[in-house]
Amino acid sequence: MSESMQTRDRNIAREADRAAGSESLCKGCRESVAVPESHLARILAKIRPEDSVSEFLYEQRLSACGSCESLSYGTTCMHCGCLVAIRARLKTSHCPHPSAGKRASWVLAVQAEAHAQI
Ligand code: SF4
Repeated sequence: MSESMQTRDRNIAREADRAAGSESLCKGCRESVAVPESHLARILAKIRPEDSVSEFLYEQRLSACGSCESLSYGTTCMHCGCLVAIRARLKTSHCPHPSAGKRASWVLAVQAEAHAQI
């Protein structure tokens, strides 16, 4: 990943933190992690198309997160503290789950997309 992409991803993560109400506390450790849809939409709108995955892959990733026991409050990954709606959108993201089996759900989503394009 290039340094500028990492910087952009960090800035997007900071924006998500601000939307959640704090820059210093882990969202996964607080009760006030709910982020209004309008804030999420504003953050997602800042992600450049070249940094975004396809709609298909985005939906596949969100589906994997939706059935994951590590999803807190319906929005936040307990392993990284990220808002999954943002993390799933970024091309450079991966699933941080400690289990290879669970991480595979994001990898399988990429394979499903490749298969769908054949
Ligand atoms: S561990 Fe992976 S699948 Fe589970 S919520 Fe986090 S990013 Fe999503």
